[in-house]
Amino acid sequence: PRSVAIVGASLAGLSAVRALRSEGYTGTITVIGDEPHMPYDRPPLSKEFLSGDDSNVALLDEAAGETDALGATWLLGLRATGISSVGIGHEVQTDDGTSVRADAVIIATGARARTLPGADALDGVHTLRTFDDARALRKSLASARRLVVIGAGFIGAEVASSAAAIGLEVTVVEVSPEPLAGVLGAHVGSLCAARHRANGVGLLTGVTVEKLLGTTAVTGVELGNGLVLRADAVVIGIGAIPNVEWAAESGLEIANGFVTDALCRTTIDGIYAIGDCARSFDEELGAHHRSEHWTNATTQAKTAARTIMGASHPPQAAPYFWSNQYDKRLQFAGRRRRTDEVKFVDGDADTASFTVVYERDGEVVAVFAMDNPRLFTRYRKNLERGRRATVQR
Ligand code: FAD
Repeated sequence: PRSVAIVGASLAGLSAVRALRSEGYTGTITVIGDEPHMPYDRPPLSKEFLSGDDSNVALLDEAAGETDALGATWLLGLRATGISSVGIGHEVQTDDGTSVRADAVIIATGARARTLPGADALDGVHTLRTFDDARALRKSLASARRLVVIGAGFIGAEVASSAAAIGLEVTVVEVSPEPLAGVLGAHVGSLCAARHRANGVGLLTGVTVEKLLGTTAVTGVELGNGLVLRADAVVIGIGAIPNVEWAAESGLEIANGFVTDALCRTTIDGIYAIGDCARSFDEELGAHHRSEHWTNATTQAKTAARTIMGASHPPQAAPYFWSNQYDKRLQFAGRRRRTDEVKFVDGDADTASFTVVYERDGEVVAVFAMDNPRLFTRYRKNLERGRRATVQR
């Protein structure tokens, strides 16, 4: 192609610009992003950023002149409102009435935080997805004494841990009996959850939220069991929704994300989707899967760039993600199924650092470690041995 448009100016979008250039693409690149900022990194926002450390938020290496070197046009504060095919190329429409034409389009519109009814009406109630969300939350935490976190997933757990570290009284409420069970399995999920209590954070599981209390500012959370938790700040961490609605009329197949094959191709020629908004075919799983993790966004950006450039694809690495909670590094790699058997290979349920592997038919298919990076890395490398190259289809 001679022109590529990228919709979404965050991790996946930026990674696609980098990958296209490193694959030797010399044509024009236009990036359309609805946030006012150049790409920044989200993981620190629920971690060190909340206690006042902004140092890890930059994604672009401005000091090394990376923005200039990439040679892309950044249209920021502009929202894509549709995409259509024009001749052999495509056109992305935007909310200021202009449109961008390109031979190929990479969709990288990510996901947004799910929220609760009534959340917008009350001061002190937050979701956390963007830099602006994190700034508002940080301000709120600075004057709050009691924080209630709704949802004990990764974002909820990280916020609880960061808030406890700066001295807030924190309670986490979670609807399922074991936090993180969907990702790590019930047993490992419960071991992660135990970190909350060990660090003086209250954790109520198997409870629903009835409503948020307060008139202008939040004063508490009423639970389904009638219990009222007083709060002067509330964080809702109940998952993310892929940003797909803007392309609803495009003819692209959308089902919990833009559906793609293993090479990031959507159902329309010349349009690709990557990162949190993409539900791509995973050859190892034999199914489509939407991943909401950092490494996936960068890997898929490289895959899309290679597909566009007609380059060959190296073997796929095992999926990987991390989380930091209560000074512990949680790391996971591989593809886990509910029926896999969990085995401790270091430490045990009573230790604050341990490693487990997930086995299927006697073979290790995934690994999880709490504060055990060396052993984790060994298992992660083993997982990648014997991996298959992406099948061209
Ligand atoms: P996003 O980062 O969501 O970016 C999409 C961009 O597209 C956004 O800027 C959005 O505003 C924009 N956009 C949406 N619609 C439009 C439109 N119509 N027109 C123009 N622009 C649009 N992952 C880990 O593996 N480990 C972690 O520790 C970790 N911590 C995290 C902490 C937080 C607080 C959050 C929010 C995420 C964390 N993640 C972590 C996940 C990781 O950050 C995401 O997987 C990653 O940001 C996905 O990148 P993306 O570019 O696909 O999507």
